[in-house]
Amino acid sequence: MDYLPLFHRIAARPCLVVGGGDVALRKVRTLCEAGAHINVIAPAICQGLVDMALEYPALLSVFEREYHQDDLDDVVLVIAATSDQVLNAAISTEAQQRNIPVNVVDNPALCSVIFPAIVDRSPIQIAITSSGTSPVMTRLLRGRIEALLPGNLGALAKLAARYRGKVKTLLAGENQRRHFWEKVLDGEVAEAVYAGNNVQADKQILTELEAMAADAGAQPSGEVYLVGAGPGDPDLLTFRALRLMQKADVVLHDRLVSPGVLAMVRRDAERIYVGKRAGNHAVTQTNINSLLVDLAKQGKRVLRLKGGDPFIFGRGGEEIERLAEEGVRFQVVPGITAASGCASYAGIPLTHRDFSQSVQFITGHKQDYKLDLNWPSLAVPNQTLVFYMSLVSLGDICAELVAHGLASDTPAALVEKGTTPEQRVVISDLANLADKVAGLKVRAPTLLIIGHVVSLQNKLAWFNTENAEDKK
Ligand code: SAH
Repeated sequence: MDYLPLFHRIAARPCLVVGGGDVALRKVRTLCEAGAHINVIAPAICQGLVDMALEYPALLSVFEREYHQDDLDDVVLVIAATSDQVLNAAISTEAQQRNIPVNVVDNPALCSVIFPAIVDRSPIQIAITSSGTSPVMTRLLRGRIEALLPGNLGALAKLAARYRGKVKTLLAGENQRRHFWEKVLDGEVAEAVYAGNNVQADKQILTELEAMAADAGAQPSGEVYLVGAGPGDPDLLTFRALRLMQKADVVLHDRLVSPGVLAMVRRDAERIYVGKRAGNHAVTQTNINSLLVDLAKQGKRVLRLKGGDPFIFGRGGEEIERLAEEGVRFQVVPGITAASGCASYAGIPLTHRDFSQSVQFITGHKQDYKLDLNWPSLAVPNQTLVFYMSLVSLGDICAELVAHGLASDTPAALVEKGTTPEQRVVISDLANLADKVAGLKVRAPTLLIIGHVVSLQNKLAWFNTENAEDKK
């Protein structure tokens, strides 16, 4: 972060603008809107500024003369907007020596503070900056956000402010208040305000408040969201996943959920790590199941985030079975499973009319130190095999397939940390893949893809190709 965004309460505080042209005029207008007391100093003052001084006599004074250092006395913000770069630099230096925030228009290097692009739905304000790198990008973003936000958003915030005290009195629980506000700000009340129907909005908010207050003694009922977080790239989340991630009170996550995905969970949701960590034992599955039940019964919205898809090697079924038995409400959100994510990002279609008419997802996890799989059904041509959890048993899997009749030159790929910036794809064949991987310091998670479709990777790779192991 190159700049710390803050909102400056500047009403009735003294500010200095040096410069009397159109550029100064634009800044002065913004400062007037924020209620600042502004002195504008320049040897020549444009008509626009003179007019504005008449419009805002209590806020704005213009002085047609040269700037002097003493003009900085007691001001809380300085803007240098002259066409004289030497003068601008001098103002910047003098202001910074006195620790006064200074903005030099169009010269980020001389600024200690910069003006953002503003989306104004007061009291809601959105400030956007590219930290001086691309004003065009800032403008485009602002246009998009403007289009996204209802014009009456500010009115909704004001309504919320009016009812805040009453809601606090009537709804004692913090969780309950948050649920109430989420319902109001995202439901019929909001729609009524956006449509300009304030009377209807007032009526509706009171009805909802009374209904919730009448129910206040009852334990709010919690819910569990079992959500697939996808294989790593946050862009692969579903809309529903993101929406529920933003609503959760508490999140249970493990090693497979990428930091980028976790960063999109509501900031003040409590986080509980239930995965394995070096030297630490994982929380057992039974304990996770119980934790989900307990948290939901406390009335919380519990997000259980799982790597990939919760119903593919994710034990999602076991977790919601317990919830169903205990009568806890839940919903399941599918995610992109590692096979889909890794195959797409590696350029390996899982099926292909010429090479593969079916695909199998298989666990390579050993039970009691051995792989108990139906090898004859796996060692058949014209299909694609995708092994999850197979890094440790990679050599055994390749050897068994060959022993059961699959050609030893069948192409095979190991995708490491698929869909993330660290993705690496190791390509070989059944006879040689394990040796090749052994020399490459590969780290989990990895996915093993076997079949002739792998030969297409050469042509179809598109993601992170500079990370390809052959080029290392
Ligand atoms: N429910 C998950 C799978 C959990 S099992 C899903 O649908 O994807 C864990 C295994 O998934 C790992 O051992 C690895 O084989 C695979 N995996 C998950 N994410 C991966 C990734 N980003 N790259 C490669 N393999 C991954």
